[in-house]
Amino acid sequence: MTNISKSLVEWYSRYKRDLPWRETKNPYHIWVSEIILQQTRVNQGFNYYYRFIDKFPDIKSLAFSNIDDLLKIWQGLGYYSRARNMHFTAQDIINNYDGEFPSDYSELIKLKGIGDYTASAIASISFNQATPVLDGNVFRVIARIYGISESTQRNAGKKHFKKILQEIIPDENPGTFNQAIMEFGALQCTPKNPDCENCILKSVCFAYTNNMVAELPLKKQKITQRIRYFNYIYIIYKDFTFIEKRTNNDIWKLLYQLPLIETENKVSIENLEKTQEWNQLFEGLEPEIDINFYKKKHILSHQILVTHVYKVRINTMNDFLLNNYLKIYMSTLPKYGIPKLLENYLKVANK
Ligand code: SF4
Repeated sequence: MTNISKSLVEWYSRYKRDLPWRETKNPYHIWVSEIILQQTRVNQGFNYYYRFIDKFPDIKSLAFSNIDDLLKIWQGLGYYSRARNMHFTAQDIINNYDGEFPSDYSELIKLKGIGDYTASAIASISFNQATPVLDGNVFRVIARIYGISESTQRNAGKKHFKKILQEIIPDENPGTFNQAIMEFGALQCTPKNPDCENCILKSVCFAYTNNMVAELPLKKQKITQRIRYFNYIYIIYKDFTFIEKRTNNDIWKLLYQLPLIETENKVSIENLEKTQEWNQLFEGLEPEIDINFYKKKHILSHQILVTHVYKVRINTMNDFLLNNYLKIYMSTLPKYGIPKLLENYLKVANK
């Protein structure tokens, strides 16, 4: 083991946080935790992990679950394609791998939703393979210690980081090393104000010894975000409301939602009433629009959703609503997996 690896592992044994997925090497549990923790903070992921494992304790229960139940558990975590891919992969493992997780990186990476990072994590933690992980924390630690100003957004940069990691990952307990370097990045070598003065690696750290901690790693290029305008209609008919399932290849695929009119620009309710979609929804009806409406800007990694939700009462129904939407009791809405944004709205609207 190199001195750097040894220091990281020693540091980890003293300072690591007690997290439920660190008590196991079970590949199913490692997989679930890694997928949940992608794009999710550890504190938030904690409860989701417990709920997930409670509901789907093993690969079989996940494979045979109803996707709607899975999306319901996932509600609020965002990036719902992660959950859909897990469902697919669980079935794939049952059907094509005798229900057992493949134990080799090269097989793991063939599974849907499992990329280099997750395959490396599972292979190292569960199967003792020396496959280094490269996530944002590891990237920062390596960039600073070795003084690398390349970005991992390019393949060449990624390869360079991987090469260094491959040289320092030990053959013995590679999973512990992977967890150690990630934890070190999360707690010690943080993006802002890393605790350099008390760092075990400061004497060998390029960034520290060259006064370049603030400059490394290289900042990511800003992603341009697309702005979308979502106008939801919460239709109330007696004790019923109407929902639909999102089936297109778009955000929130397979989640349920209220009837949606997406517009090119921000529109007032008066202009919304003039759209073809509105006229279809309420053809032959006399909708009463609540003057209070809900407004929320929802920021995702590549999109900004400028959202309005209007509450509209109707006294009769038309064929368009019946043919294109699910008519459900309002009281049953919490049973459906819906985007967090709508869940928050409904909590307020149904008070
Ligand atoms: S000295 Fe500072 S920048 Fe270098 S590894 Fe330690 S915490 Fe990170």
